[in-house]
Amino acid sequence: MADFIPQASCADAHEAQSLSVQQAKQRISKLVTPINSWRKQALREALGLILDQEIISPIDVPPHNNSAMDGYAVHGDDLSDGITVKQVGVAFAGQPFNGSIRRGECIRIMTGAMMPVDCNTVVMQEHVEVNGEQITLHGKHTAKQNVRYRGEDLKIGEIVLEKGHQIMPADLGLIASLGIAEVKVKRKIRVAFFSTGDELRSLGESLEQGQIYDSNRYTLYGMLKRLDVDIIDMGVIADNKDDLRQALLLASEQADVVLTSGGVSVGDADYVKEMLAELGQVDFWKLAMKPGRPLAFGKINNALFFGLPGNPVSVMVTFYQFVTEALQQLSGLAKQPQHHLQVNCVSPIRKRAGRFEFQRGILFTDEQGQAQVKITGEQGSGILRSMSIANCFILLEEACDGVEPNTIVTVQPFSGLI
Ligand code: AMP
Ligand code: MG
Repeated sequence: MADFIPQASCADAHEAQSLSVQQAKQRISKLVTPINSWRKQALREALGLILDQEIISPIDVPPHNNSAMDGYAVHGDDLSDGITVKQVGVAFAGQPFNGSIRRGECIRIMTGAMMPVDCNTVVMQEHVEVNGEQITLHGKHTAKQNVRYRGEDLKIGEIVLEKGHQIMPADLGLIASLGIAEVKVKRKIRVAFFSTGDELRSLGESLEQGQIYDSNRYTLYGMLKRLDVDIIDMGVIADNKDDLRQALLLASEQADVVLTSGGVSVGDADYVKEMLAELGQVDFWKLAMKPGRPLAFGKINNALFFGLPGNPVSVMVTFYQFVTEALQQLSGLAKQPQHHLQVNCVSPIRKRAGRFEFQRGILFTDEQGQAQVKITGEQGSGILRSMSIANCFILLEEACDGVEPNTIVTVQPFSGLI
């Protein structure tokens, strides 16, 4: 398919050389090979980790037909309204009734108790009248009701979970229900990151003229923590070639992935480019997106490298749109379904055609119960508060040249980004 070609304007020569978001994702994906180191892990410790095996059911679940109710197990032919049957025994969960039950007889049965071989139907205790051993059934009943069948949840030999699945709380229970105590999982990936910039100060230091606090390292920490990767925080590196070279080399030796912020655009102190040309195979991309135009991507030694832009919102947008997917792919996670919604946008949005925009939005439900979205206000790439109050991105295609109020837009909720 041909790429979108913006209409003629002053900015066009520039945009024409830019890479689309989709192209960038494809190039990144091509360079990522999932790690192949794994370990055996006790089931509980595997929570959040990625399966490096299929889980195949060694048993039927449930392993026997059992009662779904507290009541009476009867023959399916003894169900007429007002019939009286005789109780000849009791079955508890874990304590089956092993005797025989003839027509006209029943047993008391509890939820989860194994169905006796002679009976196929359970009548709830609320639908009977009890007089000693004489049990009178009331109402209309059908044969085989209130029974849970052997293998109705999982059948022996069935693939229960695929390789590449991330183990969630339900999966712990599912795997436990099969009697499996240990699973083969991928090891966690290790990510090293640092900020670059002479203007940056760390928390606890005071600000001199022209200086700002380093916030990117904190947002990066938060986003990486949520992905449950191992983290190496290397602090702030000044805009100087020797320090940068040393930090990049050290990071690439210690981690599977190296992330930096700042220094990848065309300023006089943007040395990251020069160092990368020296140390690795790294491409510099001008992306047709906003925020987040400059991005460096490639490899230093065996480590994947992302040189994210410096602006705080750009860092988050490029991380969520490119880095998350790459880290998931590297960690062996199966490709995840996308989570986009079509929602009515109540605010007007200003936009010029040419770049794909990730505007920050607030998704809400109006008084009529309809999902709506509005923008957070100012959308500058330095306005981190726009991310803080947002709960979604509003995705605006390259060709879009603004949105009138009450137009359907595509929304990517943050909940899908974890
Ligand atoms: P740069 O790409 O290095 O020119 O940075 C672009 C803008 O982002 C500049 O205004 C920087 O001061 C700002 N910036 C860069 N790194 C950080 C950081 N770690 N925390 C907050 N702002 C930053
Ligand atoms: Mg800088």
